[in-house]
Amino acid sequence: MCLGVAGCSAPRPDLPSDVTWRSAHFTYHTRTGDAAVCEGILADLERHFGVLQNRLGFPWESGRRIDYYHFLDASDFDANAHCDPGAAGCLVDGGIRTADRFDEHELIHAYLADIGRPTPLIEEGTAVSFACGIGPTAPPRLSWRRAMEDPSSLDLYAAGGWLVGHLVDRYGTAPLMQLYARLSPDTDADGLARTFSDIYGTSLDAEWDAISIADGVRTACASVWPCTGEALAVGTDLSLESGCGANVVARTFSLDVAASLRWETGGPWNAQIGECGTAASPHGAALRSATGGRFRGLVELDAGDYFLLLRPPATLAWSAAPSTWVGDTCDGLEPMTLTIAAQTSVEVDVRRGGATRYARLQIDGATGVAMRLAEAAGGAGAEVCDSCSAAPGSCETLTADATALRRSTGEQILRWGPRSDDDGFATIRLAP
Ligand SMILES: [Zn+2]
Repeated sequence: MCLGVAGCSAPRPDLPSDVTWRSAHFTYHTRTGDAAVCEGILADLERHFGVLQNRLGFPWESGRRIDYYHFLDASDFDANAHCDPGAAGCLVDGGIRTADRFDEHELIHAYLADIGRPTPLIEEGTAVSFACGIGPTAPPRLSWRRAMEDPSSLDLYAAGGWLVGHLVDRYGTAPLMQLYARLSPDTDADGLARTFSDIYGTSLDAEWDAISIADGVRTACASVWPCTGEALAVGTDLSLESGCGANVVARTFSLDVAASLRWETGGPWNAQIGECGTAASPHGAALRSATGGRFRGLVELDAGDYFLLLRPPATLAWSAAPSTWVGDTCDGLEPMTLTIAAQTSVEVDVRRGGATRYARLQIDGATGVAMRLAEAAGGAGAEVCDSCSAAPGSCETLTADATALRRSTGEQILRWGPRSDDDGFATIRLAP
């Protein structure tokens, strides 16, 4: 105990150092008895380094290794890492301190530390976007100047992620790296605006406006790492055992034609689907994820390249079906059968278009079904009707309220309007 007399000093961090593994770019430190990680993590880290260096083009001094300090758990980390209060990880002298065995966010910081320390909106935004750490979120509603005001706020992280994702989408990574190098941690809003227009030849305000009005499918994610996952044929079931490598396993799949995926996952975290896109749209959307138990989904997708993230242990059973149950007009749609089982919710993800769209569902397997919108912000714009010819007043409005609307099983017609301020999908949750 220190009572504030001579000999007292600030406690020093107690960094894991019992076990050390080395690879070309990493020195990984753990404590004795850390069962969450094994030496195999190095292969995943090296692959991550290679993929991100290829994309971001950061320089690396030959022989330099990142010290990765893996803490046993949150309490070990909180007591001994000496990161800022509330942080889940940090970078100190180029070394990563975290209780996450594969901390993509801190890895991005570590890769770019030699390029510079830009103002937090850009520094954190780059880590958020390339670590894909934030799932589907609505585009920022506050201004970029406002987001810069509090460097520790989640608003700054989310806004920065959206900004960087948008810039990478539109201009690639080279100007982002120039921006990263030319800013400093205390660059203020005016300084950022000036340096930004020097490099991009356009104003940050104009780019920000382009994010706010963006429609279609988009999130803060620059989906680089997940889109390098092993290819999986659509419909091939998957079962992943717990491992000690990267936390989340990525697989990729392609759809030659638009289709609807029916999927069921099991495991503690379930799954997330996102779009890999083309050169014109290199980052895509994290469509859906959910936590806990078994989970069924039905998602309407365009032709394209996608990634699928699962956190082992996990199972996935899935199949593709034609999207003949959903369209821009109600008449002529074929019913899609959904079986509602006990204790299993089903999530239906349908694209929002430029006008009202419709889906025809045949709901079986329960005496009744509870229906609600999943989007917390999306109270308006979706209804459920008995038939295509139902009078407008006879349909019931779906809301995001916990008190879900109850409907009988059998045929249900969904209809929903356009919105430009979300991720491009309307999501309806059904439960027994
Ligand atoms: Zn960070």
